[in-house]
Amino acid sequence: MNNHYDVIIVGGGMVGASLALALKQSDLKIALIEAFSVKLDQQPSYDDRGIALSYGSQRIFETMGLWSKLAPYSTTISDIHISDRGHFGATRLSAKQEGVPALGQVILARAMGQVFNQAMLEQENLDLICPANVTELEQTEQHVIISLNDGQQLSANLIVAADGANSTIRRLLNLAVTENDYQQVAITANISTERPHLGKAFERFAETGPVALLPMSDNRSSLIWTVNTGEETELLELSDQDFLNRLQVHFGYRLGKLTQVGQRGSFPLKMTQTQQPVQQRIVFIGNAAHNLHPIAGQGFNLGLRDVAVLADKLCSTYADCGDPELLHDYQRWQQSDQDTVIKTTDLLVNLFSNDNALLGHARGAGLALLDILPRTKSHIAQSSMGLANKQSRLARGIDL
Ligand SMILES: Cc1cc2nc3c(=O)[nH]c(=O)nc-3n(C[C@H](O)[C@H](O)[C@H](O)COP(=O)(O)OP(=O)(O)OC[C@H]3O[C@@H](n4cnc5c(N)ncnc54)[C@H](O)[C@@H]3O)c2cc1C
Repeated sequence: MNNHYDVIIVGGGMVGASLALALKQSDLKIALIEAFSVKLDQQPSYDDRGIALSYGSQRIFETMGLWSKLAPYSTTISDIHISDRGHFGATRLSAKQEGVPALGQVILARAMGQVFNQAMLEQENLDLICPANVTELEQTEQHVIISLNDGQQLSANLIVAADGANSTIRRLLNLAVTENDYQQVAITANISTERPHLGKAFERFAETGPVALLPMSDNRSSLIWTVNTGEETELLELSDQDFLNRLQVHFGYRLGKLTQVGQRGSFPLKMTQTQQPVQQRIVFIGNAAHNLHPIAGQGFNLGLRDVAVLADKLCSTYADCGDPELLHDYQRWQQSDQDTVIKTTDLLVNLFSNDNALLGHARGAGLALLDILPRTKSHIAQSSMGLANKQSRLARGIDL
C-alpha cells in the first residue's frame, strides 16, 4: 500500500513536531497529520505565550541540531526568585550556583512554531498532511489504518497520538482519563517593566493564586497569572492600565513599575492523564498523555522528554516500530518521569493555590529553609532544569 508509513504522528503541535524532527536522520517513513495548515501561522498552541524551556530541553534541541535556529528567539533565565506574598521567606535559584550557563530559556511559542514548521517542510522522510483531521481508526495485529476527513486512508506500523489534551485518538479508542479540574484559569500576557529583568524569572504566590513573570526579549516579561474560575472575566475586561494596577498590587515592585501589557489570553486549567497511554500499535505522548497545570512550566519539557525517549527506542534495533516490546520498553523508561512530574505539579498547585493561613506560614518557612539548604535547593534546581532524568541518547547529547 503506497499510503503505508512506519510511523504516523497525529498532531503537529510542539510535541508532535518535535518527534517528527527528532526522527529526521532515521530511515523511517513518517507522516504527520495536523488539523491546521502549518504554512498559515494558525495553530492555537503557537500563540504569544513565553514557554520556559529547561536546560535539559535546550540540550535535547542542541543534539537535534535545532537549537541554533531557536536561540535567536530565546532569553536566558539566569536566576529564579520564588516568594509568597504577605509571608516571610523567599528562595533564589541561580545558574551560577548550579554551575550551568542557564537555568533555562524562554521562547515565544509562535517563534518556536515557525522554526518547527519550516524545518518539517524541509524534511525529506516526512509527509506533512494538513489541514486534515483523523475521523476513524482501525487496529489490527499488523498495522493501524486511519481515515481522514478528506477521504484519504493511511496505514502505519505505529500511530503516535500527539493531538493534545482533548485527543481525538483517545476518544476514538474510548480510553479512560484521570482528571482533576482545578477550577482555575491562567491569564497570560506580555508585560513591559520599568526596570530590566536581567534574566530573572519570578514566581510569586498570592492569595488569588501564583503569578509568574518570565524574562523575554525586548525587556518584556511573560506573565502567567492563575486565578479561580470566574475571576478571570473581570481581569480580562479591565482597561490595560487598570489591569496593570491590579497586577502591580499582587506582584509588587521587584521590576519597578509595570508599564505596558500586550494582548491577554486565558486558559482553563485541568490535569488530564490518559490511563493506558500504550495500546496495540498506538502510543500517547505530550498533552495527549498528560496535560499539566502550568505552575511549574513543565508541560512541554516533559513532553519533549517523551519525544527523546520514544525517538531513542524507534531508532534502536526493533525492526517493527509498533512492536509491543518497543512500546512497553518506552513506557518503562518514561512512566516514572511522568508520574513524578504529575504528582509534583499537583502538590505545588494544592500547596500554593491555597489561601489557608497555616499553609501560608508553612510555605514561607519552607521557602526560607530551602534558601539555606543548598543541597535540597540544588536537587530542586536540577529537577526543574530537566537534568535529573537523562534516559535518552538525545538528552545525553548523543545523535540517534
Ligand atoms: C498558560 C500556559 C503556559 C505554559 N507554559 C509552559 C512553560 O513555560 N513550559 C512548558 O514546558 N510548558 C508550558 N505549558 C504547557 C505547554 O503549552 C504544553 O505542554 C504543550 O503545548 C503541549 O504540546 P502538545 O503538542 O502535546 O499539544 P498541543 O499544543 O495541544 O498540540 C496538539 C496539536 O494537535 C492538533 N490536533 C488536535 N486534534 C487533531 C486531530 N484530530 N487531527 C489532527 N491534528 C489534531 C492541534 O491542532 C495541535 O496543533 C504551558 C501551558 C499553558 C496553558
